[in-house]
Amino acid sequence: MPLSTQQQQQIHTYLSTKLRNNNCPYCSSNNWSLYEHMVFAPIISGTTIQAGTGLPIVVHICNTCSHIRCFSALTMGVNP
Ligand SMILES: [Zn+2]
Repeated sequence: MPLSTQQQQQIHTYLSTKLRNNNCPYCSSNNWSLYEHMVFAPIISGTTIQAGTGLPIVVHICNTCSHIRCFSALTMGVNP
């Protein structure tokens, strides 16, 4: 399910208040797109992926060089 308008606004507000430097570390542009879906990083224990556990992630993509940066949705207070 894509991020809701409310979630997108919450993410924008969070990042605009927390980031001191919003430039891409690789190309120095300041042209990011919010990926329309939250993604999920599974927890791995040894060689086994633990079903149903993991970290929800908000993804920003640099529109100039395609670099991806990730933020914890839980820390941001954005519920999956
Ligand atoms: Zn870039």
